[in-house]
Amino acid sequence: MKIKLLLVFGFVVSALFATPNFEENTKKTSLTVETNYDCNYSQCQATAKSTGKQCKHCVSKDGDLYCWQHKK
Ligand SMILES: [Zn+2]
Repeated sequence: MKIKLLLVFGFVVSALFATPNFEENTKKTSLTVETNYDCNYSQCQATAKSTGKQCKHCVSKDGDLYCWQHKK
């Protein structure tokens, strides 16, 4: 019984410690995307096949999600 309680306690503690890190990471990621590229509208949401990272092209119209290369 004691061992079970310890396991639950350990899980709760690690969950508490893991959550702020995760939030910080996602904040950093979105900040980088926002500040790195100077687009009139927004940056292409597609993933570039060559780099595996987000496409660096800008969209040509307001409300578009993809650049001319990734539009289907
Ligand atoms: Zn693109």
